[in-house]
Amino acid sequence: MTEDTRLDRSTRWPYADGELGAYSYSRFDHPTGVAAEQALGELDGGQALLFASGMAAATATVLALSAPGKTIALGEGCYYGTTKLFELLEPWGVRYAQYDQAGPPPPEADLVWIEIPGNPLLTVPDLDAAAAHPAPVVCDTTAATPVLCRPLEHGVDVVLHSATKYLGGHHDVLLGALAFRDTALHDRVKSMRMQTGAIASPDSAWLLLRSLQTLQIRVVRQSETALELARRLAEHPSVEIVRYPGLGPDPLASRYMKRGYGGLLSFDVADADAARRVESATRLIANATSLGGVDSTIEGRFRWEGDRVPPGLLRLSVGLEDAEALWADLAQALERA
Ligand code: PLP
Repeated sequence: MTEDTRLDRSTRWPYADGELGAYSYSRFDHPTGVAAEQALGELDGGQALLFASGMAAATATVLALSAPGKTIALGEGCYYGTTKLFELLEPWGVRYAQYDQAGPPPPEADLVWIEIPGNPLLTVPDLDAAAAHPAPVVCDTTAATPVLCRPLEHGVDVVLHSATKYLGGHHDVLLGALAFRDTALHDRVKSMRMQTGAIASPDSAWLLLRSLQTLQIRVVRQSETALELARRLAEHPSVEIVRYPGLGPDPLASRYMKRGYGGLLSFDVADADAARRVESATRLIANATSLGGVDSTIEGRFRWEGDRVPPGLLRLSVGLEDAEALWADLAQALERA
């Protein structure tokens, strides 16, 4: 970090001879946020905007890019909070319909919303097919991060991150981010951010700057460990299925994800009770929600998502712990399955 990336908590900056300077009021912009946006924008290959959370970023995007009577095509198996948000917007006349994101979006869509890879079903979208659709395309890249995938290079219009996850990386900051290829689109969503008050705080932006310094090394290592654990889980007698793009063959994963397949995977044990016993038996791996941190987490997703996922689905976010120690923990927990 340079001198420019000091934490500046001011909420206002004085006019100079009555003229507006670069900064005036922190709901619009602040120097720490702009420094973090520049750093993230370089990684994503576009212009970035920071938000108070991933859902704040999603809300500003959908409010800016849809309207009553419009339909959003949402990739099946994408983050369940996104479907909850779209349900809340239905009284405003915005509809959504799910589609298989491995294929082309439905022609009638006015906005396309995909996720690479989907959380927690780990499907990989066809980015080229989505980008060929005339509607704006949003790609939630939370689980891949710009280290593994840069959707703007494939013609996607908006990249979304829950930066609470890998970008923040330490389970200590709630943060969202967007990145754009097009300045007009960026400015439209930025106006929505200003008027809805959804900007990230300087403290959160500063934590992102800290975390970006280690992003690549974390994500590459987490990907390596996740691949190893996915392979071993796939051989385990109590595990019915493992979902991980790197287990392949997945032509979309090899086309769009470089240097690894991320630290997130999911696998199924017999039923919800077995999942509860396994998640409660891990010692090194925290039985907690969220993902993308240096510490591994595991949880049964059925408690949150109900019938959207198999009852025995466990989502594992692989951290930076030693791979053998993680496997030993999983193996002893799976004895309870
Ligand atoms: N997108 C994905 C893929 C997520 O996993 C999450 C949170 O789990 C979100 C968006 C929402 O982000 P936040 O919790 O930072 O609001």
